[in-house]
Amino acid sequence: MHRTHPDHPVAAVRNLGILAHVDAGKTTVTERILYATGATHKRGEVHDGTTVTDFDPQERERGITISSAAVSCDWDGHRINLIDTPGHVDFADEVERSLRVLDGAVAVFDAVAGVEPQSESVWRQADRYGVPRIAFVNKMDRAGADLDTAVASLRERLHPCPLVVQMPIGAESGFRGVVDLVRMRGLVWSDGGDLLVRDVPGELREEARYRRHALEEAVAERHPAALEEFCARQTLGTATLRSALRDLTRTGDGVVVLCGSAYRNRGIEPLLDAVVDWLPSPLDVPAVRGTRGEEEVERPADPAGPFAALAFKVHATPTGRLTCLRVYSGTVEKGDTVWNATARRTERIGRILRVQADRHTPLDRAHAGDIVAVVGLKSARAGTTLCDRDAPLVLEPPGVAEPVVSVA
Ligand code: GDP
Repeated sequence: MHRTHPDHPVAAVRNLGILAHVDAGKTTVTERILYATGATHKRGEVHDGTTVTDFDPQERERGITISSAAVSCDWDGHRINLIDTPGHVDFADEVERSLRVLDGAVAVFDAVAGVEPQSESVWRQADRYGVPRIAFVNKMDRAGADLDTAVASLRERLHPCPLVVQMPIGAESGFRGVVDLVRMRGLVWSDGGDLLVRDVPGELREEARYRRHALEEAVAERHPAALEEFCARQTLGTATLRSALRDLTRTGDGVVVLCGSAYRNRGIEPLLDAVVDWLPSPLDVPAVRGTRGEEEVERPADPAGPFAALAFKVHATPTGRLTCLRVYSGTVEKGDTVWNATARRTERIGRILRVQADRHTPLDRAHAGDIVAVVGLKSARAGTTLCDRDAPLVLEPPGVAEPVVSVA
């Protein structure tokens, strides 16, 4: 198998899911992320049916239907692979499989409704898979939106340690920005949607200092190194605060909370910064485990290791089957012959595609940590393990694999 360096180091990949109660704004947040990262230049609106995560008519005409199962975009030198997680409990199996292939998630809440029953069930599933999360309290522009109340419901129902890293500037229809409590600066969106970085507004300075102190205290309570510094100085330096926030997020001991209004395109850039700063790369999560006969085997996210990948979604399209793969280990090139350990047969990797919102980019190879779509696999289904024939393993027990979803 070919061994080459990835175009993005594995440490710069974020495999991200967006979890939400139906209607909390998952589609809108996804749209705005794709727009902010330049993956798409049209801003789709949910109500007029032009969202790019829906099927694109042009692509349909060309015979390949874009799978919304995984879409890639770039932010600040990082590759973010957005993996679709169905919000409805009826798709519990699909939710669980998508939770398996992602390394971190953004949980979206409605700033008026707070934690709703469905957000709770998806949250518990993510707990089971040990998925590190940050929370985005959306719809801050709505009448009755209140960050503190939403955070209180998060604390009561989901996690004892919400770490609120922003303070809203303006409320309801006057919501126009946030104070970034980590860097202590103001972030204000212009009417045109541009992000302007400012000093903390004078009238909010005292409250911002108070909230920053509360954040430091909450962090110190759960993080030994931060506690030591906090006890010695009665405050936390920004560097300690940042590294403690990263640790607490990745261990699941704390949940960073941000806020915004996806609909008004406010809060998306800081959310992307938070994804890159706090959520783990494939190198920061435990190595994937599989079985070889009775033996349990591990595959660290090493592009030079033996190839191992899990198919997590298969779409039948008029021109062929499109299989979404999470590559856990090794490197695979187009044209390679790999072992389908679930069906116990060889498979040929046809075209490898990076799926962006409104286009595909053909790739020569895919590496450990990445998520790509492959055209031409004959027998792979959701749940199938593909690997090196010389280093076989099964990542998911046979029998769990699902039939092909036909969308043609
Ligand atoms: P999903 O079901 O979680 O994917 O939610 P959608 O993204 O489809 O959003 C549900 C509804 O809430 C739509 O009518 C959106 O336009 C609206 N919405 C989404 N984000 C916001 C927001 O920040 N503020 C307001 N007021 N409405 C929003």
